[in-house]
Amino acid sequence: MARVELNEVAHSYLPKPKQPSDYALKRIHNVWEDGTACALLGPSGCGKTTLLNIVSGLLVPSRGRVLYDGKDVTASPPEKRNIAQVFQFPVLYDTMSVFNNLAFPLRNRGMGETQVKERVLEIAEILDLTPFLQKRAAGLAADAKQKISLGRGLVRSDVAAILFDEPLTVIDPQMKWHLRRKLKEIHEQLRLTFIYVTHDQVEALTFADQVAVMFEGEIVQIGSPQDLFENPEHRFVGYFIGSPGMNFLECTVEGTVAQVDGTSIVLNEETAAKASKAKGKLEVGIRPMYLEVHAESADNRVEAKVRMVEDLGSYKIVTLKLAGNTLKASLPEDQPVPEGRAWLAFPLQWTRLFDDGWLIK
Ligand code: ADP
Ligand code: MG
Repeated sequence: MARVELNEVAHSYLPKPKQPSDYALKRIHNVWEDGTACALLGPSGCGKTTLLNIVSGLLVPSRGRVLYDGKDVTASPPEKRNIAQVFQFPVLYDTMSVFNNLAFPLRNRGMGETQVKERVLEIAEILDLTPFLQKRAAGLAADAKQKISLGRGLVRSDVAAILFDEPLTVIDPQMKWHLRRKLKEIHEQLRLTFIYVTHDQVEALTFADQVAVMFEGEIVQIGSPQDLFENPEHRFVGYFIGSPGMNFLECTVEGTVAQVDGTSIVLNEETAAKASKAKGKLEVGIRPMYLEVHAESADNRVEAKVRMVEDLGSYKIVTLKLAGNTLKASLPEDQPVPEGRAWLAFPLQWTRLFDDGWLIK
């Protein structure tokens, strides 16, 4: 098991990178503590695989160092790092049986056959592969093959870390849910360092204790799922996490009030005071579930038009128009939605201000 540290890591696939956009990873400075289950969450192309391959040693970063338990392994190849890696698509020996595929990483380390058998049966059971153990991998469906790949990653309990790169991509939704729970259970049993890459927020938030959100080659925030939801520190975290994502309204700030196209939204005094030092575009941000929708006017409420109501069973999503801006509110199913006109309230503690994408704290 290991504490995995990336020290001032940057990576470009170009031989002579010049500007920031030439870097797939701009600056990653991060520690994954021993035994934690961490997710790396971000959209396609943000640098997740690049980062994972630097952790595993498939890629040497253009700059910076990789440390395992304080030891510099930047130049060590994957086989010297004692890690397991599970890729997006199955990696296995087609001509071998499922049993032999799962046994391979153990035999390779010189484990005795009695123990090999015990461990293979255990992993096969967890992944529902027991009925297939004697079958050749070649004849199996894509999702069964991917489960074998997962099994090969999970079978050794003596690795420094297990790295997963979108491992459930080819698995059907029902099975995904099941495997995610299994992985969480396995983590709780083994307490190995798990680093799990995904573009799927549900996957990241249910699997990991700690989620690092990536955007354009940078980690913009690391936190617990609850933290990322309640306290997004970057506009991208607000937008990417939650469904629908956070609302953003471009504004100017006068005193303690944000002006949005002629309507006034009251801000927290401290935040408003800091806005005078802001350098970039100012935006008010609020999560749909914290935006209040009322049928009547009152102090500190602003008038909006109701454009659409979507009933999603246990809650409703209301689309509203506030001056030129579209907003979403998420309401409990039993709350009536006013027709035509509505008055919105922005609770102080949930109304945030962003400067050029970054939260003003
Ligand atoms: P993700 O896994 O988040 O989808 P990647 O790490 O694969 O992102 O890619 C990050 C960026 O680096 C993308 O712009 C991608 O096009 C680029 N990239 C990835 N692999 C290579 C490569 N082998 N050669 C050149 N560019 C690459
Ligand atoms: Mg990738």
